[in-house]
Parts: sequence; structure tokens; C-alpha cells
Amino acid sequence: SLEEKTIDYKQVLENLYITIASEENKGAIATYIPELAKVDAKNFGVCFLSTKNEEYGVGNWQTKFSIQSISKVLSLSIAYQIFGDKIWDRVDVEPSGTPFNSLVQLESDAGIPRNPFMNSGAMVICDMLVSYYENPKEDFLVAVRELCSSSEIRYSEAVAKSEASVGYRNKALCNFIKSFGNIENEPEEVLDFYFHICAIEMSCQELSKVFMFLANPNFTTSKGSKVLSLSKTKRVNAIMQTCGFYDESGEFSFRVGLPGKSGVGGGIVAIYPDKYCITVWSPKLNEKGNSYRGMKFLEAFTTETEQSIF
Ligand code: GLN
Repeated sequence: SLEEKTIDYKQVLENLYITIASEENKGAIATYIPELAKVDAKNFGVCFLSTKNEEYGVGNWQTKFSIQSISKVLSLSIAYQIFGDKIWDRVDVEPSGTPFNSLVQLESDAGIPRNPFMNSGAMVICDMLVSYYENPKEDFLVAVRELCSSSEIRYSEAVAKSEASVGYRNKALCNFIKSFGNIENEPEEVLDFYFHICAIEMSCQELSKVFMFLANPNFTTSKGSKVLSLSKTKRVNAIMQTCGFYDESGEFSFRVGLPGKSGVGGGIVAIYPDKYCITVWSPKLNEKGNSYRGMKFLEAFTTETEQSIF
């Protein structure tokens, strides 16, 4: 029959953690943001949260880390909620096949970034939020806190400052897009907001909770409101599936088979719509800027549980 088999997620999680923690930890910590280089490479945590509220954590699952580009899903979702489908006039939904900080396609694409999960696209989304909010940094944090019913979510001023001090390429990107007229505000203000949202700190436990709005169709915020309609939820998950890992998005899809999003802090969030949200954190990155152990763990997790949206 097609009846679903019962899976002992907790057992699978714990066994895989022990196996992968015992294997070689390849890759390198992101050092281009000086503050991120201080993080201990040995950190390794996982948090599984089901739509039925079953929560299993292992390793450093309650330690906060820099979520970096994972924040791009939150900024997109919040902007999508505010502006609706108008946002697609200013940012596309195509995988770029390029690194996260790529500039090259912007020239032929007349300043329209390929998707909201590369730096260029995220900056255009940030620009919309900067125009909309009275106090962008404070107001965005309020919206994120409502998603996970927690006031314990903060920016790391040290990380934001550290990135701003060396963020020449991001500054170039933002100014370049502005030259095409696709940034409304002063680049300095947009960049300050962008560096801050990248510098949000959360644990695996908090991230799994924050991302539940993309997994659970019945999710409501701490204020009791819905974040995105089912159709919009589908679309955000679809962009994660096709663009969540830069020029390794195909590889993640191939190996893991779930929508997800990575950040250079070493975190990866993956969504199984209607079932669960899982977050892995391990700071060492592969050459594409995605967590080495994060990819490995999630590949083993969906393989072992024999479940996939495909
Ligand atoms: N703040 C980082 C940057 O702009 C985010 C990159 C990432 O996590 N892939 O370089």
C-alpha cells in the first residue's frame, strides 16, 4: 500500500550525527569577513522540527551563529508579504549558475538580478524594505521575532561592522545596480541594512522554528497572522529549490532533493513542505561556499529516511 511508513527521525538524526562527526571535516571557514574567521570550526549542530512540533536536536544545536545568506529567504518572504507580485518587476527567478557575489550578468540584464538569493537580488529586496520601513533595522527584527515568537533574535554589530569594513564587492554591486535605476535609496543605507540582516545570529533550533512558515501550511505568527498564502509559499520554496545554493543549486537538489538555503556562516536550512524543517550548522565550507558537513548530513538524512519531494 501507499501508506506512509513511520520513521524514527530522532534515531536517524542521532546515528548520522555520530557517523558524520567521526569522518574528516573538509573545507575551510569563510575568512573574507574577518569576524567569521573567529568561529570554532568544530561546531556541528542539527535541529529537526516537524509540523507536528516534534523537535530533535543534536550537537551544538542551541549555539547561535551568523546566518548570513539564510537571511535572504526572510527578507524575500517579508517583502513578498508586503508588496506581492510587484517584486518580480525588479528581480527575476532564474538560477544564475554563478557564485553568490557575482556581478557579471547584471550588465546584460540591465540591472535586474537573476534571483533574490544572490547578493545582487537580495540588495534589491533590501532596497524595497528600506523604502517601506520607518526604521528598517528595528522593524525587520520585529518581523523576524514574530516568526519564531522569540525576542532573543539580534544582529551581531561586530559581524555587520566587520563585513562593512571589507565589503568592496558588495558596495560595487549595490552601486552598479543603482546605476541602472534599480536601487531607490542611497547605496550606503541599503548596504548597511544588507550587512545587518546577514549578521543576524540564530541557533539551529531558532532557525528551524523561524522557517516553519514555509513548511507548515497552517502556520501563524506570534500575532496570529499568516505570513504567505499557499501559492506564495510554493513560490518561495521553488526559488530555494532552484537558487538556494548559488552555482551548487543543482547539486544540492540532486543530492538532497529538498528546497533549502545556505549561508557562509556554515548554516543550511532545508524544508520538507507539510512535514518538517531541518537546520544544520558546521562552519567549514566547500569551494562553492556551502557547508561541507551540512550538505553531507542532509544528503544522508533524506537518503536514509527514503523521503523526498521527488
Ligand atoms: N554577507 C555575505 C556576503 O554578502 C553573505 C554571503 C553568503 O552567505 N553566501 O558576502
